[in-house]
Amino acid sequence: MIVLCANRLYTPQEEIEHALLFIEDGYISAVSTRSHQEIPKNATTVDFGDAILAPGFVDIHMHGGAGLDVMRATPAELPHLNKFLTRHGVTGYFPTTVAAPLDQTCAALEQLASAIEAAQHLPASNGEGVQARPLGVHLEGPFLSHKRRGVHPPEYLVEPTIEIFDRLWQAARGHVRMMTIAPELPGALEVIAEAARRNVCISIGHSDAPIEAARAGIRAGARHATHTFNAMRPLDHREPGILGEVLTDGNLSADIIADGIHVAPEIIQLFLQAKGIDRSVLITDATAAAGMPDGRYRLGPIEVDVKDGKCTMDGKLAGSVLTMDTAVRNVTKFSSWSLQNAVRAASLNPTRAAGLTQQGELVPGAEANIVVLSQSGEVKKTIVRGRGV
Ligand SMILES: [Zn+2]
Repeated sequence: MIVLCANRLYTPQEEIEHALLFIEDGYISAVSTRSHQEIPKNATTVDFGDAILAPGFVDIHMHGGAGLDVMRATPAELPHLNKFLTRHGVTGYFPTTVAAPLDQTCAALEQLASAIEAAQHLPASNGEGVQARPLGVHLEGPFLSHKRRGVHPPEYLVEPTIEIFDRLWQAARGHVRMMTIAPELPGALEVIAEAARRNVCISIGHSDAPIEAARAGIRAGARHATHTFNAMRPLDHREPGILGEVLTDGNLSADIIADGIHVAPEIIQLFLQAKGIDRSVLITDATAAAGMPDGRYRLGPIEVDVKDGKCTMDGKLAGSVLTMDTAVRNVTKFSSWSLQNAVRAASLNPTRAAGLTQQGELVPGAEANIVVLSQSGEVKKTIVRGRGV
């Protein structure tokens, strides 16, 4: 048994002072306080002093980092990315595809499925250092609007059909956990309904939908929205469109890229007020360039240029170099939100949105995926399934 002690712990709904967290076989067996529970004599105790124990961050939209692109990284390269992610507090993530030729996407999905299956069975660290785990695939495309495609290549966008969805699903051996789709496309509602039936979190985005089409997508089974404001029909006070629905639907969760580049800080504040502490989700949308110097990097089938923290292709924003810990700290700078609530938007909220269980919170029965933070939100240590202490 391992016992972690710290000045504070975020479950994240609750804040616990003078916390004790008990880990057995990679899972949390108890969360308590020094005044309520004795530490057993045979336990390994680690005292993190005035630090904060928080649930490990879960990034449900990322394309790469540390020079590696998730659609192209080999099984031998992936651990390098996974270790990079733990340095930023991430314990689990959804490798996210970009619209590409269908056979290329399927080949990438087969590799990613193998990585996800290996991470389910192997310990989070096998002498190579602690690693974040790929938990499922996010399909960002190919069912996106031409009008709001961002940098997804137009030649690889297709109209949604169950046949194509099923081809992607089979290639990923059922590990598709999330899909971004424009609900206004012909055939979209049937594909949304079928994917939702397979427990895929359907996220509306890369969309030019009028409000009625967005609502139809939600009625068909969509329950989330992808990088709110980016690649969406802009908000108009007489034609609210998809954004009007995303910001006012109390059941819909939504995510945002809080780098201060994709969305102005004031609009992030507006988003947080609209979606609240239950439904706001932070993502990075990071590319291979995250954690790397300025230069040219791969993003699926395209190349992006990075200069001064801005990732572009032909002048269009093309993903980010954001990391989850920076996103969390940015939220505390851009809004009046506490570190506790910002952490929640990076842990519990994404796991709830994506339907992941035993993740995103520090409660008995959950996997011991923990980030140890300083008072100002700097990552001091990351623990995956109890390893890395
Ligand atoms: Zn993306």
